Amino acid sequence: SGDADGYGGLLTIDLGAIARNWRRLSARVAPARASAVVKADAYGLGAHEVAPTLYRAGCRAFFVAHVEEGIKLRAVLPRDAEIIILHGAPARSEPDCDAYQLTPVLNCMEQLTAWIRFTSANGLKRRCVVQFDTGMTRFGFDLSEASSVAAALGMAGSRPSLVMSHLACADDPSAASNAVQRERLLDLRKLFPDTELSLAASSGIFLGPDYHLDLVRPGAALYGVNPAGTDPNPMESTIRLWGRIMQVREVPAGTEVGYGLAGRTKAATRLATVAVGYADGFFRSASGRASAWLGSKRLPLVGRVSMDSIVVDLAALPGPPLVPGDLLDLLGDAYGVDDLAADAGTIGYEILTGLSSRYWREYV
Ligand code: PLP
Repeated sequence: SGDADGYGGLLTIDLGAIARNWRRLSARVAPARASAVVKADAYGLGAHEVAPTLYRAGCRAFFVAHVEEGIKLRAVLPRDAEIIILHGAPARSEPDCDAYQLTPVLNCMEQLTAWIRFTSANGLKRRCVVQFDTGMTRFGFDLSEASSVAAALGMAGSRPSLVMSHLACADDPSAASNAVQRERLLDLRKLFPDTELSLAASSGIFLGPDYHLDLVRPGAALYGVNPAGTDPNPMESTIRLWGRIMQVREVPAGTEVGYGLAGRTKAATRLATVAVGYADGFFRSASGRASAWLGSKRLPLVGRVSMDSIVVDLAALPGPPLVPGDLLDLLGDAYGVDDLAADAGTIGYEILTGLSSRYWREYV
């Protein structure tokens, strides 16, 4: 597309693949239901595009972190889509939760009493989710508070629509804490007998049906991050990234390249300078390990990743030389989000949420 000519990086986001990933997870967990976690702008892929796509695929519950994210999401989701705010409603945001029909997760007594005070004062009957900390020590009521929570809601003539918790070690099936957290959540059925339960996010789904309960909350897996650590990845990849060649040069063996002159060519070769760098989410920590690609041909990076560029060794390419303006594959079939994450010493989540706003973006 001519409009993309001025861009150093081109990103395509495959909404069909995201919808298929959601359907795949829904089928896997049935009769439990699948929601979608679309916080952080749908992990960087664009909540305004992703959430309506998933709504059309059948998803009716969406999780974000902040009230402000929920307000923006409501603009693109019909009222029968529940928008749940993981961090809960901070002081004075309750009227927005009401106006935009956002369901807060009540994580602590301060949030619970403020929500009851607000809904009672305004004669509102609104859904709320209660989160318990079953072992991760991050968000949620302590288990010792469970009866106070049930009593406070009961006195207000209310009950939670969902009781949830989050697994600390879902990506490690051998972690003993998984079963412990699950047992602790199931124990809460005594106090909340008719309330649905939710525990599993992406990796938790792959711990098996015991972990699905009533509602699962996948995020990363929808976007193609491998939730099970298995080969092949059970999810479909959803993004492709190309970087634009800005300059090509012939160099002799032993040429030093980039900041710190940390790169050095082993043989005479052609080098391409490509206009994507760490400011675009191509992590500097992947220097020396990551590569660019042309189809299945691996083209190693030479030297350090700069803020707006990388230098790529083109020696592996037969055929007519590439010229400025041409594109190289940076993320695609041969090398995906999880591969760059491994080379950068991080997780796919950080690669996705770090994707640049400078890229030319196309939804396909
Ligand atoms: N549930 C909660 C409470 C979360 O904090 C998150 C994300 O961190 C998710 C679900 C989704 O997790 P994942 O992206 O691993 O599926």
